[in-house]
Amino acid sequence: MKTPTQTNAIDFDSAKLQRLGSGRPSVLAPRPTTLEQLRQQLTLQLQTSLQPERILGLFFREIQRLVPLEALQYRHDSSDLRLEYGHRGHHSVSYALSHEGEHLGELIFRRNQRFSEEEQGNLESLLATLLYPMRNALMYRAATRSALRDPLTDTGNRIAMDQTLQREIDMAKRHLHPLSLLMLDIDHFKRVNDSHGHATGDKVLKAIAGLIKSQLRNVDMVFRFGGEEFLILLSNTGGEAAALVGERLRKAAQAQDYWADTTRIELTVSLGCSTLLPGESADSLLRRADSALYVAKREGRNRLALAG
Ligand code: GH3
Ligand code: MG
Ligand code: MG
Repeated sequence: MKTPTQTNAIDFDSAKLQRLGSGRPSVLAPRPTTLEQLRQQLTLQLQTSLQPERILGLFFREIQRLVPLEALQYRHDSSDLRLEYGHRGHHSVSYALSHEGEHLGELIFRRNQRFSEEEQGNLESLLATLLYPMRNALMYRAATRSALRDPLTDTGNRIAMDQTLQREIDMAKRHLHPLSLLMLDIDHFKRVNDSHGHATGDKVLKAIAGLIKSQLRNVDMVFRFGGEEFLILLSNTGGEAAALVGERLRKAAQAQDYWADTTRIELTVSLGCSTLLPGESADSLLRRADSALYVAKREGRNRLALAG
């Protein structure tokens, strides 16, 4: 069944003008006191958080005093943020939020009855209270995220890795899921720098990081571990499946072309793979992947070794 969808792009500046000025005042005005009270309340309430989850959660709960809803969905692609509240409804109305040319995400309201004109007017008016809180929350999120990323390769940095690894170990233990780790190191990377210069080396690092991310479903689990080493966390993945993923990465790295001007650079990677043992610590899991990587190097590189 096709879901009826009403789509609107809302630019807050023109929306405001429309509401205050000549727009459609008769449609927007029937419950002015309540709408105005709710707007004032939300304006104060939404400023109290920098978390998009909390801001939108409050918004979803409070606006239902005026416009009953089944669900609210939000997405902001450039910061990889997707949030959902409630359940699905047959009818939906969506708004692209923007302010002074800055895209602040898309909101979809859902429910089982159609939205009346009046309700849409109310929603548009209430959306304006989200503008500054959401803009601030997105800026804050971008700042904290960048503190956890490696800028050259756009992968997680060491701090992110430590946090994520501990979280994944806790989860694996709680749910009795397997957890595996791949440590990937570029073979003879020093030669790339020596023969073609550091800038080319950087380009190669970026290319390898891009390749790893393109081969994996969850890009949040890729970390730059050292200079030219990457760590890949594979949640809910046992040793055999992890080795297959590692082999796929190794082959893809070998097949990819790397260029320094017109010279093709031959490049391979080696990998070590470890799988969490009962009661094992993060340090031990890392150490075993590192030892396996060392074995792969010693046995001739361009290969994957499993931790003992
Ligand atoms: P192996 O096959 O044993 O791994 O040899 P390798 O040459 O890759 O290993 P080694 O650890 O001796 O050298 C790693 C090199 O990586 C040394 C360092 O100059 C280089 N490197 C580390 N970080 C960066 C970086 O951010 N950019 C560039 N261009 N080079 C880096
Ligand atoms: Mg190396
Ligand atoms: Mg190395």
